Amino acid sequence: VVWQRKIDTNGPAKLGQPQVLAQAETMVREASQQAQASGHRLLGIGLGVPGLVDRTTGTLLFAPNLGWRDMPLRDMWQAAFGVPVIVENEANAAALGEKMLGVARRCDHFVYLSAGVGLGGGLVIDDKLYGGVGGFAGEIGHMTMVPDGPYCNCGNRGCWETLIGPTAIMDRVRQAASVGQTPWLLALPEIHGDVKSIGMPHVLAAAEHGEPAVLHVLDEVGRYLGIGIANLINAFNPELVVLGGVLSLAGPYILPRAKQEVNARALAAPRAGTEVRLSAFKFDACVMGSVSLIVREVLNDPAAWRPIVQPIEALA
Ligand SMILES: [Zn+2]
Repeated sequence: VVWQRKIDTNGPAKLGQPQVLAQAETMVREASQQAQASGHRLLGIGLGVPGLVDRTTGTLLFAPNLGWRDMPLRDMWQAAFGVPVIVENEANAAALGEKMLGVARRCDHFVYLSAGVGLGGGLVIDDKLYGGVGGFAGEIGHMTMVPDGPYCNCGNRGCWETLIGPTAIMDRVRQAASVGQTPWLLALPEIHGDVKSIGMPHVLAAAEHGEPAVLHVLDEVGRYLGIGIANLINAFNPELVVLGGVLSLAGPYILPRAKQEVNARALAAPRAGTEVRLSAFKFDACVMGSVSLIVREVLNDPAAWRPIVQPIEALA
């Protein structure tokens, strides 16, 4: 990796759509300048987005947790940057990254579970990313797990995402904190009794310290994680289930319970060949996957891969 930079768009000063896009474009420009300065050429841009993507047009159709709809990202960025742009669902991209560069190398059948803001999934079947008829397969975070459960940003209730996604974890810990069940967590100097300022790093610190209410929340997450994984094992008979994002960070506190549920619920034969592992890239899996989107195309047909509009030097 030559250059990397992260911006929190979901912090206290929550950025709107135009600002997020402008920030992203600035970062791509900076990255391409850095690449050129170190003697590399920009071959293309891989873009992982948290929502449904029309792969034929490179349009983000709907991102439930951002509230974005119908964004022709491929056309916008190809016009702006003059190189091929591939837009893909972030969990699909991450699955590809694990396949090409991470824990799923030499693995032809696996499920990638990504907990970023919501909960996404990428399915690799027979060595290929599985998209279904419209390219929308893998939305396993929106499988209904509790019919009358919490409302989900997709419009449904009780989706898997509402039970094990990062937002669900934070909501439940804050709820426990607000009724005084997490004294150690609330006493942290950076929290100072303010429930709203509890973030995932604090939750993980409290878990490490052994705060019972926090461990209980994470144990429940492990329970529903395991139930969902058992369903996926029964449906797809994968050799590997990879956990990415927040799930990979909270692994030590949720995996034992998840594995217990998997053993209790999945059918013995498909379960016997399945391993559950943490992502090699954690929060960067989508980034490595987006790199893989371009690398895969270049390797498929190196001679055909050329800048399509203008050389990147012209952008300066
Ligand atoms: Zn949903």
